[in-house]
Amino acid sequence: MAEFSLIESIRQRCAHLRDDVVLGIGDDAAVVAVPPDCELAVCTDTLVAGVHFPRDTTAADIGWKSLAVNLSDLAAMGATPAWALLALTLPTADTGFVEGFADGFAALAAEHGVSLIGGDTTSGPLTITVTVHGFVPKGRALRRDRARVGDTVWVSGTLGDAAAALRERDSTGDISAESRASLRARLGRPQPRVDLGILLREFASSCIDISDGLLADLGHVATASGVGIEIDVLRLPASPALLDRVPMEQRHALQLAGGDDYELAFTVAPERIPLLQQAIARNAIPITLVGRVVADSGVRALDAEGRVLELPRAGWEHFS
Ligand code: ADP
Ligand code: MG
Repeated sequence: MAEFSLIESIRQRCAHLRDDVVLGIGDDAAVVAVPPDCELAVCTDTLVAGVHFPRDTTAADIGWKSLAVNLSDLAAMGATPAWALLALTLPTADTGFVEGFADGFAALAAEHGVSLIGGDTTSGPLTITVTVHGFVPKGRALRRDRARVGDTVWVSGTLGDAAAALRERDSTGDISAESRASLRARLGRPQPRVDLGILLREFASSCIDISDGLLADLGHVATASGVGIEIDVLRLPASPALLDRVPMEQRHALQLAGGDDYELAFTVAPERIPLLQQAIARNAIPITLVGRVVADSGVRALDAEGRVLELPRAGWEHFS
């Protein structure tokens, strides 16, 4: 019985209706209508307590982040988000946790017009799996395997904040309350770059979202596209909080390999740059040119003199 009252409480908070949801939560499966000229982009991501978020993260932040990481994947495909499924594994039927979780999830879902259309609820160690669906005009999805030698490499927003927040958690060091709060928000409430992804369908040759660290994720683009990528570390965008807090060398490590940024990294042919910049200015989205696509395979970070930087590790990987 507890299972059904939990589902009902999630439904009330998250199942706001879209006209393309023929049948939402409550039947054996949801029924939805896909727009005729579109393809469906679908992805799923799991968050495990203690692995993907610290155990003391608030329920609302966990709810927000479980949807955000998935919307970030849709953004990287240039997809417009529509529907979500939620598989929730809970240690106990904790109504307070579920309500907080659903409120955080619903807050982000409302920003992007996403409707929760189904899921599953089970008992076990706290684990959240969200699946999202989005639309892309036929043949227009942004892929990892289309970067070309000579393309320029860009990133959105700033890098390294979430990784810095993780390292700050236990320190009582000399950081202003304002900087600490802004770093924490980047860790707990990442903002998926959905509008940018949609805009980039017109301009980018390839795109990926940065979840495991810039170098590791660009490594996937380089491999899939059969090219190499060079990054100029001095160009990497940093937030005021990161500049305030972290000395330069550590900063570069966080920006290149910290992870949890949920910004987009993308490649653009040089002749497309002027039009991209006009579109970006109209939409006030921050993007920064950070490097270039080259023929030599691999991803390299270069210092001011063009020397290759050696980094401690190349990003997060499970089972390693
Ligand atoms: P079934 O036994 O047919 O699989 P369930 O009892 O698991 O159905 O779920 C009942 C309904 O509630 C279904 O429509 C399912 O999609 C939905 N549901 C279950 N758990 C969740 C959840 N955590 N979030 C959203 N919808 C859920
Ligand atoms: Mg079920």
